[in-house]
Amino acid sequence: MTGRPERLFPLFASLETLPGIGPKTARLFPNMGIENARDLVFTLPTSGIDRRLRESVLDVVAPNVVTVKVHIERHIPARQKSRPYRIDVSDDKIAFQLVFFHARGDWLEKQLPVGETRIISGRIEAFDSILQMAHPDHILKPETADELPLFEPVYPLTQGVTLKTITKAVGGALDTCPELEEWIDPALLRRENWPGWKDAVDAAHAPAASVELLATHPARQRLAYDEFFSHQLTLALARRARRRKPGQISEPTGRLQRPVLQALPYKPTAAQQRAIGEIQTDLAGTDRMNRLLQGDVGSGKTLVALLALLSVVEAGGQGVMMAPTEILARQHLVSLREMAEPARVVVEILTGRDKGAERTAKLAALAAGKIDILLGTHAVFQPDVVFKDLRLAVVDEQHRFGVAQRMELGKKGPKADVLVMTATPIPRSLSLAQYGDLDVSVLDEKPPGRTPVTTALVSAGRMDEVVDHLRKALSEGRQAYWVCPLVEESEVSDLTAAEERFKKLRAIFGEEIVALVHGQMPPRDKDAAMSRFAAGEARLLVATTVIEVGVDVPNASIMVIERAETFGLAQLHQLRGRVGRGSEKSTCLLSYQTPLSETGRRRLEILRETEDGFRIAEEDLAMRGAGDVLGTAQSGLPIFRMADPERQTALMQTAHTDARALIETDPKLKSARGEAARTLLWLMSAERAIQMISVG
Ligand code: ADP
Ligand code: MG
Repeated sequence: MTGRPERLFPLFASLETLPGIGPKTARLFPNMGIENARDLVFTLPTSGIDRRLRESVLDVVAPNVVTVKVHIERHIPARQKSRPYRIDVSDDKIAFQLVFFHARGDWLEKQLPVGETRIISGRIEAFDSILQMAHPDHILKPETADELPLFEPVYPLTQGVTLKTITKAVGGALDTCPELEEWIDPALLRRENWPGWKDAVDAAHAPAASVELLATHPARQRLAYDEFFSHQLTLALARRARRRKPGQISEPTGRLQRPVLQALPYKPTAAQQRAIGEIQTDLAGTDRMNRLLQGDVGSGKTLVALLALLSVVEAGGQGVMMAPTEILARQHLVSLREMAEPARVVVEILTGRDKGAERTAKLAALAAGKIDILLGTHAVFQPDVVFKDLRLAVVDEQHRFGVAQRMELGKKGPKADVLVMTATPIPRSLSLAQYGDLDVSVLDEKPPGRTPVTTALVSAGRMDEVVDHLRKALSEGRQAYWVCPLVEESEVSDLTAAEERFKKLRAIFGEEIVALVHGQMPPRDKDAAMSRFAAGEARLLVATTVIEVGVDVPNASIMVIERAETFGLAQLHQLRGRVGRGSEKSTCLLSYQTPLSETGRRRLEILRETEDGFRIAEEDLAMRGAGDVLGTAQSGLPIFRMADPERQTALMQTAHTDARALIETDPKLKSARGEAARTLLWLMSAERAIQMISVG
């Protein structure tokens, strides 16, 4: 594929090519994320100033911006440097003063000659009992009055760049915008009554009233759609690029799954059955699978993963499952080995801890096909880890994975199918932005028999009551988690807090029954502590958030979370998901520091009200914004300039559907509309997407 279309060159030229921008000013723009003319075009006004001509400054309530025609009466130069230069003027009804500090008299005399009329616009204020306007924003000769927009757009500013400068530069940038062929589906364009691209940018920068600043204004909506569409095209191309590489046909026979299912003490839920059905259809097909399995904590993703892994083993291949932490990988090992026991498959684990001869032996077994299912951490992606016939890669709990990282996946088995599992119920809009390249299976039903968790808020001042409650529960043989606060973003201070709490709780409840785990412990100690807790020897587990995901100890029925107000809602929900797994009635105590802000309280109350992960995620999103919900930098969520994925859900959905439809019918973007869509990708700097078309 050839490079960026020449028509777009001026848009990508440096800022200095624009009117009014010299090298010094140009250096200020990158702070605003603006590096070229295109970026300026995509920086839409955030508000506007009413510049309609009035008869008199008396027509507005001071202080206020007003535009009037004035007669210039008299100049009163400053007598001292520190004093302002004043000019007496009068409109149709009243006389007032223009005020200039540090002004050059000769310049003012040229701009505002005595005896002439001028249109001036600026902020009028009552000062020293007279009306004054300091440094008018605009001074125009009456014959050029229509140069002043009736509603002047206001842009987000950075220090050192005036509104005038940015407005002029935007004007120049808009002049470089070419007419572009339409990439939006004509039916959609008609239905929504959207303008073409060039008209849309022009209109978005020339609002005629406040209503035109709203996201619902057709011009703005179109531009937001363009942004979503470009992103969704990238995802659709990524999806196709992977699927197009012929996958292996893995026909499950049921030979291994059957004994496993028979030995289970329960029946898979309808949602689990549906998900495994969808996965097996993908596995048996020629396209490579790229599927997201989304299910709230406790929805039973592990069983689905196991059945998927067994499916490829039945077909003669191998499977790998990757967990984000060592603890989780080991937990999976224990539960998968137990569940898979009747199938007599070989399940092994490989982590960063495997060294020397042991590691070599495991690698040899793997390469020889003697290990059927490998569990592990990121270590399974090291270059010397070679499979005999890898057919399926499962990635657990990876909402932290971005699109780019997913693209790296599956390289271990050039044809391997990929199943990504996430426990974070992501609102639909964000899920499309982040996972639009995947097909999705949802576990929207929880296994029966789970007891609801009672959640209560307690202020830190009532710690004694919490301790009393725990003492009683522990003496009855119950088990509990105690989650220590995220003191700061630093792990070191988390650690100190956890260690101190550990010491105190040990003093209260006794050395033997209190265990500690945190992220920086030597792995062996961590394992030892975890297994003591899992075996019921330790009854209280003091932990940092390392227990957030996956850990499964059904007998644990109490969770205390210290300084709950410092955690994200989704994270609290995940943590709470560790209890309520057995038949025992479970409790989650959210301890908070007073005073708690109004929103802080509201957030915690949501957890008290519901255990529905999706509702919690929606509320969290509404309160905090996408970056926070998904975990900012790691979210892999693109940054949109004009579109808002949180509010424009329907628009994102349309873009998603439309992008997939276009890529299905015109995968190489060769049709007229396809060509136009290519231009959009260049316009949006979607280099990765462009690369995929050129290799594909
Ligand atoms: P998650 O989706 O959070 O990974 P798990 O796979 O750990 O959930 O399952 C949570 C618990 O539910 C486990 O103890 C598991 O044994 C149990 N479970 C899974 N599926 C079912 C089912 N269909 N019926 C009853 N219990 C189930
Ligand atoms: Mg799990």
